[in-house]
Amino acid sequence: MQTKRWYIDERQPEQQAIEEAADRLRNGRTVAFPTETVYGLGADATDEAAVSGIFEAKGRPEDNPLIAHVATKKQLSRLVTTLPSVAEKLIDTFTPGPITIVLPSNGTCASNVTAGLSTIGVRIPDHPVAQNLLKTCDIPVAAPSANISGKPSPTTADHVWADLQGKIAGLVDAGATGVGLESTVIDCTQEIPVILRPGGITKAQLEMAVGSVMVDPALANTADKPKAPGMKYKHYAPDVPMWLVAGSPENIQAVIDRERDDAKRIGVMASTQTANRLQADRIITLGSDLRDIAATLYDALRVFKNGDVDLIVCETFPRTDIGQAIMNRLEKAATAYVDS
Ligand code: AMP
Ligand code: MG
Repeated sequence: MQTKRWYIDERQPEQQAIEEAADRLRNGRTVAFPTETVYGLGADATDEAAVSGIFEAKGRPEDNPLIAHVATKKQLSRLVTTLPSVAEKLIDTFTPGPITIVLPSNGTCASNVTAGLSTIGVRIPDHPVAQNLLKTCDIPVAAPSANISGKPSPTTADHVWADLQGKIAGLVDAGATGVGLESTVIDCTQEIPVILRPGGITKAQLEMAVGSVMVDPALANTADKPKAPGMKYKHYAPDVPMWLVAGSPENIQAVIDRERDDAKRIGVMASTQTANRLQADRIITLGSDLRDIAATLYDALRVFKNGDVDLIVCETFPRTDIGQAIMNRLEKAATAYVDS
């Protein structure tokens, strides 16, 4: 399949590209587009065959549900049986924005969007290009992250191109995304909402808006079966094994030195402050605060290729603010946790 790539920047007339991309979506084809979290791979959520195209292109397991993207609250309300007041409050407070709300589906979306579940995850993205595309095509668009299943999510169009070129009908390239980690997924089908996946909107922010919020126990205890189906799969994996190493820079350096003695070449991922105090074969600096680290994390996970280094050593981060989501992704990406 030929993948058409549209470049959107100050020199390109956006509307023509968006019209072409929207046409492809309306015709049952797959198109990748930027959101404020990561790039998504979209298809008409009401068309089962179109949605199958997403699973095929990504190699995604069929029991992992997709998020339906819409431009407005009105369009969102057409996909669900009810809009409880807590969900309405979350929508009014945080959307458009990096939050996915799980609600009872009314069956408008194809059954493969929800992986056969009675609930559906819905989201209103806050990116001008995503908003424009969703408004122009005027259909709900099912869109998981636009990467090969198991790999880090794409935060640039080049990441999407590397994974999916030739497998999808189009790619709207509008540069790097903002948040860099996927949306917070929150289940609003019970009286007290439950966070199923930490993300750009933090627990503290949610509680400010709606009071009590619970966290899916599976997020704390990996032995529990996760409630959000996709959470059980291997995710975000770099090409090279990665260790998450807790402790001071001195402790991290001791782990690096020990492994280097074993003739291993070591790559490091760390905050600017920690990176400045470490020595290794290659060091990637993620940024100096948690928001910067979130934004650069997936790109860093894609940098190390087989043959470059034998092991990635990554620092651990405090689970405050977006640190909760950063650690959730790193724990899934890592092959081991070392408490030095
Ligand atoms: P992705 O867009 O690739 O980040 O994947 C979407 C994720 O959203 C899935 O892996 C689930 O964790 C979550 N999700 C989507 N729909 C539902 C739903 N109906 N119930 C629970 N979790 C969902
Ligand atoms: Mg994904």
